[in-house]
Amino acid sequence: EVILSVRDLTANVDGTQILKGLNLEVKAGEIHAIMGPNGSGKSTFSKILAGHPAYEVTGGEVIFLGENLLEKEPEERARSGVFLAFQYPLEIPGVSNIDFLRVAYNSRRKHQGLEELDAFDFDDLVRQKLDVVKMDPAFLNRSVNEGFSGGEKKRNEILQMALLEPKLAILDETDSGLDIDALKIVSGGVNQIANPQNATILITHYQRLLNYITPDFVHVMEGGRILTTGGKELALELEERGYEWVREEDAAEV
Ligand code: ADP
Ligand code: MG
Ligand code: MG
Repeated sequence: EVILSVRDLTANVDGTQILKGLNLEVKAGEIHAIMGPNGSGKSTFSKILAGHPAYEVTGGEVIFLGENLLEKEPEERARSGVFLAFQYPLEIPGVSNIDFLRVAYNSRRKHQGLEELDAFDFDDLVRQKLDVVKMDPAFLNRSVNEGFSGGEKKRNEILQMALLEPKLAILDETDSGLDIDALKIVSGGVNQIANPQNATILITHYQRLLNYITPDFVHVMEGGRILTTGGKELALELEERGYEWVREEDAAEV
């Protein structure tokens, strides 16, 4: 089953072309890592998938579960199973974490044609899921992300992901700023959530995360497109040799 198919995607931000013909196909059961130097367009790509209004798609197509993703509103994308974990999670003062999670969860359930859970049943469910990220139940009654440490915010996002059971999870530098314990918890959560019916795109600048999550494919992005694709060994090669050689090999091919 093809979950995501991206063809010749081009996009602008503030009139500058950032994506320059991006191609990617993601099937159910796969974990894809997208690596690449700063400024290569990785976050731009993830924001376009989520439907961020500042990014203007100028060409190409994005098909998610057989439908044109680009014509859907951001909320509709989330309901239909696209989950984006942000590099800098939002704080929402005055909204308790558990209320926020329940609204998001029920919105997704409704889309799946399932009944919404009431506050009591949801409470039971969320407490089971806390285990995935080894999170203290006290976090459920605090305002969303307010005063959370970096690691706690990331865990909270993985908790959201565990509840929403997305078809496509996109993690944009979720590893940045995590200490080793938080990194293990976050990657353990991602590994538990990944299954043969869903797919994961891990965007990361460093190889470190891939010590804990084994990707099926590693893509190198540069200048707004994917220059080369390999298996998990490519990540180690990048760590050792940097990105320059990828650029040179690509230039030699043309
Ligand atoms: P990455 O995540 O790979 O580091 P980004 O997608 O964040 O890359 O950025 C890609 C390029 O787009 C960079 O050169 C960046 O400066 C540029 N860019 C991002 N946002 C904007 C913006 N709002 N206006 C102009 N240029 C932008
Ligand atoms: Mg960056
Ligand atoms: Mg980025």
